[in-house]
Amino acid sequence: MRHFAVIGSGPSGFYTAEALNKAFGEQARVDIIDRYPVPYGLIRFGVAPDHQSLKAVAKRYDKVAESPGAALIGNVDVGRDVSVAELLDAYDAVVLATGAPNDRKLGIEGEDLPGVFGSAAFVGWYNGHPEFADLDPPLGGTDAVVIGNGNVALDCARILSKTHAEFDGSDIAGHALDALDRSAIRTVTLLGRRGPHQIAMTPKELGELGHLEAASPVVDGDDFPPVEADEPLEPGHRKSITILRGFAAAGADPAKPKRIVFDFFARPLRIEGDGTAQRVIVERTEVDEAGGARGTGETYTVPAGLVISCIGYSTPQIADVPYDERSGRFRNDGGRISDRLYCVGWARRGPTGTIGTNRPDGYEVAGLIEAAMPPGTGGERRGAEALGEVLSSRGVRPTSFDDWRSIEQAEESAARPGAPREKMVRAEQWMATLGRLPK
Ligand code: NAP
Repeated sequence: MRHFAVIGSGPSGFYTAEALNKAFGEQARVDIIDRYPVPYGLIRFGVAPDHQSLKAVAKRYDKVAESPGAALIGNVDVGRDVSVAELLDAYDAVVLATGAPNDRKLGIEGEDLPGVFGSAAFVGWYNGHPEFADLDPPLGGTDAVVIGNGNVALDCARILSKTHAEFDGSDIAGHALDALDRSAIRTVTLLGRRGPHQIAMTPKELGELGHLEAASPVVDGDDFPPVEADEPLEPGHRKSITILRGFAAAGADPAKPKRIVFDFFARPLRIEGDGTAQRVIVERTEVDEAGGARGTGETYTVPAGLVISCIGYSTPQIADVPYDERSGRFRNDGGRISDRLYCVGWARRGPTGTIGTNRPDGYEVAGLIEAAMPPGTGGERRGAEALGEVLSSRGVRPTSFDDWRSIEQAEESAARPGAPREKMVRAEQWMATLGRLPK
């Protein structure tokens, strides 16, 4: 019997576990280890609460967790409760599927002022991540700035602009829904350091802004090159630009009180305020020959009591695992870090691509493991049994997939009418549901 440990129960972890199960069949057991008793990583804590159809992929992951060849081991923090070296002693191979949950820094003055957040924190807040349940973002001013022109920026702008009724059927955390109900924000300005052609937004997500109940997008038609310049663009990207052109042509809807303003060629220079964020100083840019943003020297001020920077993520380091500081992920060669140690998903590639991108990624790394482990090799390690001994010597009590089912049931029975669940947002609540004291 081969024993594999996959660290992280988000999409990349589950696809890798599925692939290892398929590759080794009954000859392997895959333990999916997560630091929380609740699984799904990005699906639970990252995907927007009003995008339930995307979250439905978790049903597929449940099949993996419930299969005889796999187990979910929750409440175990790798790096703190058990080291990677100890896991390599216990398992035939270890796969790090820890994602990229840390915010990249802007590196500008004022970034640490109260009222300035990275998207991991803000998204974590509205998605009920226990680390960000107390974020309490200031929503009392009329203006917010969202930095970045990717899909996460769109998520943040949309969540800030929706009405209470538009969250029907979502699993937005109760504290966030209450706070957004009282929000005074009327204008969300999206700062893009380059132009419309350089956005990283996809058509479906962009198109949603055209159908909001109380907010309408504002785009300046003068920011676009002549329409012929769209021709050579990749079709999906061209569709996004066409949607943006449509927003520019339609203008703001006077019947809607809120605005989502696309401010292109706008690079944040610093964030200012008297003890808390009040404004962003922005430099007008132009796109240079290499496609980069070049400052023009012209500056202006955008008011903002709340600033959310959505400029990408990095993978947290784990002791003794080689790390590439520049790219913010584990140093690896096609998913292989070192002998019997691998990484997948955003921890391997960086924070790009859709949820589905993680599937071929996980299968590829499972293929590497299979190739490195021909029949007749390995099999002398004890997997979960050995891990259990290490954990119990440290007083760590792991949780199971059945434990998650109990939490899930409690969340579902507490749901608001029409909502799939009311997320528990504190580790103590999860543990109390299991009749346990917090760690
Ligand atoms: P992203 O797509 O890489 O976008 C990051 C944005 O930040 C870019 O517009 C980038 O501009 C800008 N940026 C980077 N550094 C900056 C700086 N120092 N100052 C100003 N702007 C800066 O990342 P993301 O939005 O975090 O999304 C991560 C991945 O998740 C993407 O693949 C995304 O499509 C996916 N996602 C998908 C969905 C969905 O399908 N519904 C939802 C959310 C996320 P430059 O281009 O100029 O570098």
